[in-house]
Amino acid sequence: MADPLLTSSPHRLMMTSALPYANGPIHIGHVAGAYLPGDIRARYERLAGNDVLWVCGSDEHGAAITLRAKKDGLTPRDIVDRYHGEMQTAFEGLDLSFDHYSRTSSPKHHQNAQDFFKTLLDKGSFEVKTEAQFYDPEAHQFLADRYIIGTCPKCTADGAYGDQCEKCGSALSPTDLIQPKSTLSGATPILKDTTLWYLPMGRHEEWLRDYIEKGLFEGQPHHDPQTWKAHVTGQCRSWIDGGLQSRAMTRDLDWGVSVPVEGAEGKVLYVWLDAPIGYITATMEWAEKNGKDWRDWWQSKDAELVHYIGKDNIVFHCLIFPILLREHGGYNLPTNVPANAFMNLEGDKISTSRNWAVWVSEYLEQFPGKSDEMRYVLASIMPEQKDSEFTWTDYRERINNELADVLGNFINRVVVLTQKYYQGQVPVALVSASETADDAIIEALQLAPERIGALIQRNRFREALHEAMGVARLGNKYMTEQEPWKLQKNNPERTAVVLHHCIQVAGICSVVLEPFIPRTAKKIQGAFGVENAAWSSAAADMIPAGRTLNPLPILFEKVDESVVQAQLEKLQASRAKTEPTVQPIKEEMTFDDFQKLDLRVGEVIACERVPKANKLLNLTIRTGLDERTVLSGIAEHFEPEQVVGRRVTVLVNLAPRTMRGIESQGMVLMAETADGGLRFVTPEEGTAAGDVIS
Ligand SMILES: [Zn+2]
Repeated sequence: MADPLLTSSPHRLMMTSALPYANGPIHIGHVAGAYLPGDIRARYERLAGNDVLWVCGSDEHGAAITLRAKKDGLTPRDIVDRYHGEMQTAFEGLDLSFDHYSRTSSPKHHQNAQDFFKTLLDKGSFEVKTEAQFYDPEAHQFLADRYIIGTCPKCTADGAYGDQCEKCGSALSPTDLIQPKSTLSGATPILKDTTLWYLPMGRHEEWLRDYIEKGLFEGQPHHDPQTWKAHVTGQCRSWIDGGLQSRAMTRDLDWGVSVPVEGAEGKVLYVWLDAPIGYITATMEWAEKNGKDWRDWWQSKDAELVHYIGKDNIVFHCLIFPILLREHGGYNLPTNVPANAFMNLEGDKISTSRNWAVWVSEYLEQFPGKSDEMRYVLASIMPEQKDSEFTWTDYRERINNELADVLGNFINRVVVLTQKYYQGQVPVALVSASETADDAIIEALQLAPERIGALIQRNRFREALHEAMGVARLGNKYMTEQEPWKLQKNNPERTAVVLHHCIQVAGICSVVLEPFIPRTAKKIQGAFGVENAAWSSAAADMIPAGRTLNPLPILFEKVDESVVQAQLEKLQASRAKTEPTVQPIKEEMTFDDFQKLDLRVGEVIACERVPKANKLLNLTIRTGLDERTVLSGIAEHFEPEQVVGRRVTVLVNLAPRTMRGIESQGMVLMAETADGGLRFVTPEEGTAAGDVIS
């Protein structure tokens, strides 16, 4: 059945997913963020018979790659070749069905990005400035982006990069960082003159505001801003409200797309200028291979552009890339950027450096043939509006209780009963044997595909999957209530009706679930003789009476609790192996600042828990001056009896603070260990309560 949204507006849908950065493997957070949503949408659009093109590719430039190469003693080419191959294998293993997967280090892309840059240059889109930039006096090179870290000026997080703070997502310039440091040598950088091409984003605030907030472009309605996710619009609005700063679009680096200007040797395009142009290059490559015109997808009025990305890329896709496209002229602007939030793992942020991740390649090795299981779980908990969390227990429960018990069990019962009663032939449903319960299920089946399709088009994948599984739930309920195995003895005509409808439910399930779990869908379609499934074929009469069913392979195996335990142990082991992270140094203070601290040796003479506070202990400390109460957040690490009698370091001139109705008069100094533990800072033997520490 046709979706009215589609028949009324024939269009081409140009879809992109964020180019993954070729300096590390793919984990489930990447998949849930930008790739699985793209794949579900693309698969749906193809099944619905719409003209869709979905491209992606490896992002192979930028300072993070040269830095990685330096650390590993390899060339940047070695690094990108390795990860380009690994990422492609991981994507294929999860059945991500890109129409074309490219890479930005190709000569074609270099040419394309340079042409794009030159057009903007000729149009006066850039400001050329010679100014002081950070330079590493020990490594003798300019420090772009990831060559420099420091404290984020927006959120004060440590370890922010020169181009972006990953903690708060802010786009930064190296000179914005507080306490900058070279990641090459650890040296404090010096300033040295260089020429850079800037994109003066401030010029574009007005039209960008109309575009983001009202869905207007060049004064015309462009898209419905209500279809954009609130967190995407909100982030863009706060950027614009904060005033858009000029951003350098070139870098002093020896790896990337050379700046096509005479005298600009040793300079390359900023990776965030060249990467989104990679979407266009990928389309060109696809068009060349397939005898099509790429302009139909990027420049035609009836083509729509949609970017699937993670929330850390919002500013680049909603503000910077639209500026570049508009300045170039002739291009469509995105009609939606349905960015996803982040997926956490077992109570913690996914971290490549700490190896706190589920790597796609490892998963596929350990769970061969189980790509649908992971796709199903990730789609069920996709971080569409806010961060979500993957746990192995949830993985097990969803597979056992939903895929195996609901979908697998239903399909299997349908096939087994058809074989038992009708030698595998789809029975005829006689109208004379029909009942009102049948009408209800037929009606529900008629409506489901359209509703699910509309949800997918609105990028509400979790709901769409829930509805699609609802079709299987409905079938299970209908079969259980009608009890065809009992009817068979006294009312065989009725059994035929019930089973006939159940077979239709199975067929519809196989179509509406195909965007989510394509391998399973194909297995079901194979068993029910469905060829060339289309969204419109998912109807209450899709499998004709008289057709002989084929054998059904096993759809899902239940996951044992021991599998969950093994995965958790693996995570914990990798955490233990990870090198301890050294906290960056805090902001410099003066000697006078230090002189203000009055530190004394203290002795704990009593200690008890603070009622209803999990973390607090109430310490009575002899300081030489007095006996005073100090509250300390160490109750999760120490029992009161372990604390009494200890000599401790105590800050005695801290302003008193009341917590849980108790006034705390000072602070006990603790050392945080690399594994997250706490230890007392204990003065050496021979010191006594009241000794001054200076
Ligand atoms: Zn920040």
